[in-house]
Amino acid sequence: MLFEMIRKLKGTLSIKLSFWYAVIFSLTSLLILTIFYQRISVITMKNIDQELTEELEELSSFYAENDYDSLIQELQTEIEFEKSDDIFFRLFASDGKVLFTSNIQAFGKIEAPDDVFDGKYKIERFEIRTISTPNQSFPIRTILGVVGTSEILQIGISLKESRAYLQIFKRLILWLMIPLFVLAACIGFFMSRAAIRGVEDVTQAAIEITEGKYDKRVETKTKASEIQRLKQTFNMMIDRLQGLLISMREMTDNIAHDLRSPLTRIRGIAEMTLLGKSSKSQYEKMAANTIEECDNLIAMINTMLDISEAEAGVADVRVEEIDLCGLIVNACELFRPIANEKQIRINTNLPEGLKLNGDKNKLQRIVTNLLENAIKYTPRDGDVVISVVARKNLVDIIVKDNGIGISENDLPHIFDRFYRGDKSRSQTGIGLGLSQVKAFVEFLKGNICVTSTPNKGSIFTVSMPY
Ligand code: ADP
Repeated sequence: MLFEMIRKLKGTLSIKLSFWYAVIFSLTSLLILTIFYQRISVITMKNIDQELTEELEELSSFYAENDYDSLIQELQTEIEFEKSDDIFFRLFASDGKVLFTSNIQAFGKIEAPDDVFDGKYKIERFEIRTISTPNQSFPIRTILGVVGTSEILQIGISLKESRAYLQIFKRLILWLMIPLFVLAACIGFFMSRAAIRGVEDVTQAAIEITEGKYDKRVETKTKASEIQRLKQTFNMMIDRLQGLLISMREMTDNIAHDLRSPLTRIRGIAEMTLLGKSSKSQYEKMAANTIEECDNLIAMINTMLDISEAEAGVADVRVEEIDLCGLIVNACELFRPIANEKQIRINTNLPEGLKLNGDKNKLQRIVTNLLENAIKYTPRDGDVVISVVARKNLVDIIVKDNGIGISENDLPHIFDRFYRGDKSRSQTGIGLGLSQVKAFVEFLKGNICVTSTPNKGSIFTVSMPY
């Protein structure tokens, strides 16, 4: 069980993060403790030096005020007072002859400062040195100073005690590194696990979705804003993919349904022509019907593909500067013959010289689809008005008619694919025009809305960025 857990964790980001966290934390701690150790050794040495200097100055002033015998007596008193093997006193004559010494057996053989006696080195006020003696693992800190007229006093303190104390401290630091490393690794592990948990939630959700649970979403509540954004974006992506999946399924159903009727019709006409003893003109009529039905089918399939591409955001765009009003005027001219047939008046309300950057082809399709519907769903002697209103960053294209209007029941569905209002069944159409308009408008980052009153008319407003 534990082995299995270790195998799973091996090579994970949490382990790598914890390891590097522990390494960096331990190295930083080691550096800080080393600096601390260095400071302590310097301070310890300074204290010893101060002790030596004070002792020397005290004895020097004493000798300045008293005679030689009193100095020796004072030294003896000092030795008795110190009661320690760690300090020694030696008094030399200027030629190096030892005039007085305390018991220095504990220090081993301490060399005399010959460089001072043979004149190679001249003591100014005092001289502090660290000397080592054979058979002694600890060095001695000594001070040399001229006392009286020419005598040289040497005082030495063994560094045994201070070094031992620093050694303990050093060992403590090194041993401390082990629990520190383990502690840092544990903290790093828990911190990285907590940070990565959000990513694991997303992975788990992705696994479940792959297994077919398309409704699975990640719980977005979390303290870290980056993880929250990841989860939200993941959920949004799945929503979008699910939406596309549903619309693709709907589209396949619709295609299957809407292809069946024209194909059945084509087959019926061909069968009847074959079974009956048809004349040449009947064959010609069948061929013409077949061509017409095929054209309708091709147009429908092309429209469906255009809608799908626009909805998926992969349609081609050719952005160019468009004279919007010119485009609308041309579309009106195109529909004028049909409108005239129904005695419908087409009026325009267009500002002058309005230029817009966009995809001309798609804008043409948007305008012609809306115009075609307005004429189609307006009875004889009606009015259709197309206006363009430029606002701050948007331009509104408004198509208004006083036709049959749209019922409250139909209104929420008119942009759905293949949806046709009840009252529109008598008119030609397959229910794809508005779906295409909506897909194109949204593809061009615009917006479309509609207001309509049955038997009074409809207003379609397309707002495009400009
Ligand atoms: P089609 O016109 O081929 O039926 P559309 O997608 O263009 O398909 O329109 C969908 C439905 O919206 C129509 O069947 C009709 O009921 C309604 N509609 C669209 N435009 C208008 C309009 N200007 N006036 C009234 N109804 C409309």
